[in-house]
Amino acid sequence: MDDKSIGITVQQTENSFWLADFFGIIEGMKINLNKKIIVANWKMNPLSKPSALALYQGLLEKAKGQKSLTIVCPPAVWLGFLTGSRPTNLYLGGQNCSEIKEGAVTGEISAWQLASVGVDFCLVGHSETRRRGEDDLLINQKVKTLLKAGLMVLFCIGEKERDREGKYLEEIKKQLSIGLKGVSKKDISRVIICYEPLFAIGGKRADTPEEFTHSSLFIKKTIGQLYKAKIGQEAKVLYGGSVNKNNAEDFLIAGADGLLVGRESLKSSAFGQIIAKAGKYS
Ligand code: PEP
Repeated sequence: MDDKSIGITVQQTENSFWLADFFGIIEGMKINLNKKIIVANWKMNPLSKPSALALYQGLLEKAKGQKSLTIVCPPAVWLGFLTGSRPTNLYLGGQNCSEIKEGAVTGEISAWQLASVGVDFCLVGHSETRRRGEDDLLINQKVKTLLKAGLMVLFCIGEKERDREGKYLEEIKKQLSIGLKGVSKKDISRVIICYEPLFAIGGKRADTPEEFTHSSLFIKKTIGQLYKAKIGQEAKVLYGGSVNKNNAEDFLIAGADGLLVGRESLKSSAFGQIIAKAGKYS
């Protein structure tokens, strides 16, 4: 049983209930992340409310009964309309937020506002927002703000270019160490890493599953060094970049804890197939 409609999350698991209040100060909230996590990043699509509602409805149907966990990140303007009951394995995510809680910040969205409309997750540090001027320091502030508001963070990282000498790993390390600065050992469990090499986002080809495995191990090792080895081993690392219904399974087999899906999440049938494949590994 689950009702996340108007800002209150009541979740029943095998033998317990957790209750979370809608301001996001979610002491008791537990979302089981030990399933494959499939994130739909709609970006700035679709353009009309009826289309957004129809797409959402389509994704709800596909997620129902699947073992994987689905997080739908629509443009913020649609979030308040995506009410009503939804399956226990489907959550809402924001695409970005302000580093500031409230006040004179025209055009921005507060993490607390996201929480108040039933949002549990938020993307931060996506390459498309980095490209518009966000740097690692600002992203770090946003990560901490989201955690303070009680949300879970979908922290996007990824190198611009891949070189044979492995210098790109330094870029990944820098994004992780600055982006997570000041995030406590307790809070790091609410941060999910979304690894997206830039050449693969919105591109013609995805990364290779083998390269993903390599980068994912490096990310886990780096988090282990920043915190402790066990925390690194347990960190969730998703793959993003030109995921589609044909290649999704390869990345799951390669050890991805989930997938961040852009274009293919706008097609409910293809996205449904990705969710179903992820269910097999959950
Ligand atoms: C993304 O938006 O993060 C993304 C990976 O997009 P696409 O799947 O379209 O490459």
